[in-house]
Amino acid sequence: MHIVALQAFRDNYIWMIHDSRSAVVVDPGDAGPVLAACARDGLRLAGILVTHHHPDHTGGIAALLQRWSVPVWGPAGEDIGGVSRRVAGGDVAELDALGLRFEVLEVPGHTLGHVAYHCASLRLVLCGDTLFSAGCGRLFEGTPQQMLESLERLASLPPDTQVLCAHEYTVSNLQFARRVEPGNPEIEEYEHWCLRRRSEQLPTLPSSIGRERQVNPFLRSDQASIRAQLREHFGREATDRVDAFAMLRQWKNDF
Ligand code: ZN
Ligand code: FE
Repeated sequence: MHIVALQAFRDNYIWMIHDSRSAVVVDPGDAGPVLAACARDGLRLAGILVTHHHPDHTGGIAALLQRWSVPVWGPAGEDIGGVSRRVAGGDVAELDALGLRFEVLEVPGHTLGHVAYHCASLRLVLCGDTLFSAGCGRLFEGTPQQMLESLERLASLPPDTQVLCAHEYTVSNLQFARRVEPGNPEIEEYEHWCLRRRSEQLPTLPSSIGRERQVNPFLRSDQASIRAQLREHFGREATDRVDAFAMLRQWKNDF
């Protein structure tokens, strides 16, 4: 099975999983890169997975459905044009053409209906704009508590699970990670690797759950060193882990 990051817009990735014949794509904000990849590699589209309603994740669905009549899985809690299979937590998206099963995880926070898709056999999770490498999505619709619980749900997947995020934000996320956890050597090492990848125009993704647990401040908000930086920055102690997470997210918004 091949896992390919198709670039779209400035910093979006449309993940494509294919077996050299059939393909599934995730969050096609633009049909162009998908059509081009299918033409180049002689693939036919077998299905579309959608994590949330934002246009940079959904804008290409209609054009792809004109070319191929395929099932489109998307969150039951959101109104997304073209979605034919509305899914909620615990549901399974079965892609018979590829012999793949994706378990649906509810991960509200960035949007209220946001879902992620976990494929145990390929050891990967498609997490949209919830978990980024060394960061997390903005809270447009949900509460800090919802987002923290969503991130913890993702972080509890096996450490070798590949993390397929929808944006290339890793390098700027790592600048913030370094600021809020200056003593973490994993962050520095990873940052060097990511800078090298980007200088060669290569993706820093996929990441892995294990790596994210080591470098992502939003999964580490109860680390003493992060709490100390929060205290210094905000001039007060975080009252609990949700508060610490909310403080981190606010700091990142202004960083
Ligand atoms: Zn989004
Ligand atoms: Fe997005």
